Amino acid sequence: MMNDIERNDKEYVWHPFTQMQEWVAQPQMIIEAAEGIKLIDSDGNKYYDGVSSLWVNLHGHRHPTIDKAIIDQLGRVAHTTMLGLINVPASQLAEELMAVVPKGLTKLFYSDDGSTAVEIGIKMAYQYWQLKGATKKQKFVTLANAYHGDTVGTVSVGGIDLFHRIFASLLFESIQAPCPSCYHCKLSSDPKQCGMACIDEVEKILAENHGEIAAIIVEPLVQAAAGMLTQPKGYLKRLRELTEKYNVLFLVDEVATGFGRTGKMFACDQEDVSPDFMMVAKGITGGYLPLAATFMTDEIYNAFLGDYTQQRTFFHGHSYTGNPLCCAAGLANLQIFREEKVIAGLEAKIEAARIRLAAFTQLRHVGEVRQQGLMIGIELAENPAKRISFSWDMAIGAKVCKKTREYGLIIRPIGSVVVFMPPLSSTVAEIEHMLDIIYKSIQEVTETDQTQYDNQDVAAVLI
Ligand SMILES: *Cc1c(COP(=O)(O)O)cnc(C)c1O
Repeated sequence: MMNDIERNDKEYVWHPFTQMQEWVAQPQMIIEAAEGIKLIDSDGNKYYDGVSSLWVNLHGHRHPTIDKAIIDQLGRVAHTTMLGLINVPASQLAEELMAVVPKGLTKLFYSDDGSTAVEIGIKMAYQYWQLKGATKKQKFVTLANAYHGDTVGTVSVGGIDLFHRIFASLLFESIQAPCPSCYHCKLSSDPKQCGMACIDEVEKILAENHGEIAAIIVEPLVQAAAGMLTQPKGYLKRLRELTEKYNVLFLVDEVATGFGRTGKMFACDQEDVSPDFMMVAKGITGGYLPLAATFMTDEIYNAFLGDYTQQRTFFHGHSYTGNPLCCAAGLANLQIFREEKVIAGLEAKIEAARIRLAAFTQLRHVGEVRQQGLMIGIELAENPAKRISFSWDMAIGAKVCKKTREYGLIIRPIGSVVVFMPPLSSTVAEIEHMLDIIYKSIQEVTETDQTQYDNQDVAAVLI
């Protein structure tokens, strides 16, 4: 039975990353409330939020600390502009963030989401070289399969064919380096022994073109939207060394990896890397409200200084830049990290997931299991031994994710990769329970005759 909410949604709303023809043809779930790491639908059913509401939620829903911080701030003011004015939570949050970001990052620029944080990094890196007089340094190096957002600038540095191909003529040109995923490696027949052939390719690009290159932008440790593609240990650090050697700025997009996801506060901390720019969003408010920040060094900040007639200003800003409610949520998020010792508590959870995941490789149709902290991707394959993928139009990942809903778990695939990104507050027992549901669902879906499925039926949850 379709109620008014579902009817109105289907009448008026265009959903993100969704084929609406299939969406409106199928019954869809309405989430009315949540409790901790569970979502509650309009029939009162509870489901684990197994992808943290698309990678944003850290401490569960309706956490009393964040709820209270937002309500308290509402009692003062919801929003005032940062153009020409200071607001209290934005100032306080900036100070607290500086205490946790990699050393060397000393300033920040607020915005509203991951895409805008990356746009700001790109525009600042570009303007930096113009201001420095190195006016030929205009190009960006990106990784194959990169994802940095959906706005035109961030799509220009993106490399996911399915999302980005159609916009090609609208984009600025960037230089693409190979994707550093060993499972999908095209450079070496034995990636374990190659001594990181992918980094040699980056060096080649920089050696030949550094006079024209403004910056390299990367997702550190994990290319999440590409299907949780993990990078070889040491890759990030080597990239940093190369950018220093060739005088190229290093932009690290921690939108997905930041705030504990990889097991440390930031992925950069895993390899003791300090970039020129770092972008954060998703987890910054604990998954409550849209907020983002672009961090940079004194060297970048100082290059923009001068009296106003020199026009060195960074002419960029958004209506809700540094919104006080969002910043209050951001402060509460950091308070929870301290009070609940979130980072220290992650180790046991990550280890429990690792042990559970070891069994997945024995499933007949699992090609690779990838884990970096609580970022997990299980790549399904028609024939793992021969590295034969499932044909994309089988929507195999979507079928598995549809099945997990029957067992009380909401997750979302990327093609044939089953993504698992539970809130950091999930207990060991909950993580094990969710992984057991995923195991069972993969087995049931991939080991039965695929002709029994109507692919249309699952396509509305297909990315
Ligand atoms: C999600 C994501 C973005 C885009 O963030 P939005 O808030 O969706 O605009 C950018 N970079 C990475 C690495 C992401 O995972």
